[in-house]
Amino acid sequence: MDKAAVDPDSTRSSVSSGGGNGRPAREVGVLVLFDVDGTLLLSGGAGRSALKTALEAVYSAAGPVESYDFHGKTDPQIVVELLSAIGRNPADIRERLPTLWPVYLAALKEELGRRVREGLAMALPGVGDLLAGLEGTRGVSLGLLTGNIAPAAELKLAAAGVEARFEFGGYGSDSESRNEIARIAVERARALDGRWGEAHTVVIGDTPRDVEAARAISARAVMVATGRHSTGDLAAAGADVVFEDFRETEAVLSCLLGGNGSAPGAGASGGEGPGA
Ligand SMILES: [Mg+2]
Repeated sequence: MDKAAVDPDSTRSSVSSGGGNGRPAREVGVLVLFDVDGTLLLSGGAGRSALKTALEAVYSAAGPVESYDFHGKTDPQIVVELLSAIGRNPADIRERLPTLWPVYLAALKEELGRRVREGLAMALPGVGDLLAGLEGTRGVSLGLLTGNIAPAAELKLAAAGVEARFEFGGYGSDSESRNEIARIAVERARALDGRWGEAHTVVIGDTPRDVEAARAISARAVMVATGRHSTGDLAAAGADVVFEDFRETEAVLSCLLGGNGSAPGAGASGGEGPGA
């Protein structure tokens, strides 16, 4: 219906070139899927603290929650792994997840509020400009691909001041498997607009698990070293492009949008960061 029709938003484009003669600048056609923790924001350990509180309340145990590596894992996967580690039955653990989540969300809201006041929860450098640039580009659709259950992702994004920019998402509430979440995210994008095929998808994340999820849907893996993993780790994991962070907004945008979602012309491993 309104496929290639005039898009009022296209006038906000901040990265497109050309655009004279009253025509839209270009049809980029890129589906961009963002991870949340370590990629868009830091929550200062709010998730870990909230989950510990909730696990103790609902399961009377939290397993090795203090030392466990959360990075790149999904919320249900984290719970199952933590409690399996102390001998709990995975089927029993899963059965009580619907009871756990509301307790977790209440604790998360409180923990995030505290971290925001302490300056520990925040959007990562360059994220605001990057999202604004993507939102202002015709043919770009923004989604989430996160291990957070959906309302936890919302709480974290709101706490960090990154909100209302994503049209759809795949979440930890959809599956324990990040790769499956990636497939679900693409299905949802296609349900919204049939143009979005896997070949034009970019996954942006901060861990080798994000690279793996990108591979699962034949997407490009554009990684950023603002989480636990270094540029070297991410390159070794098979990332197509790695940035130190998103401060060089124009370079990141041209990497994401250049070539209609195919191989980038710039920003090789090590990205645009200083000395890279
Ligand atoms: Mg992450």
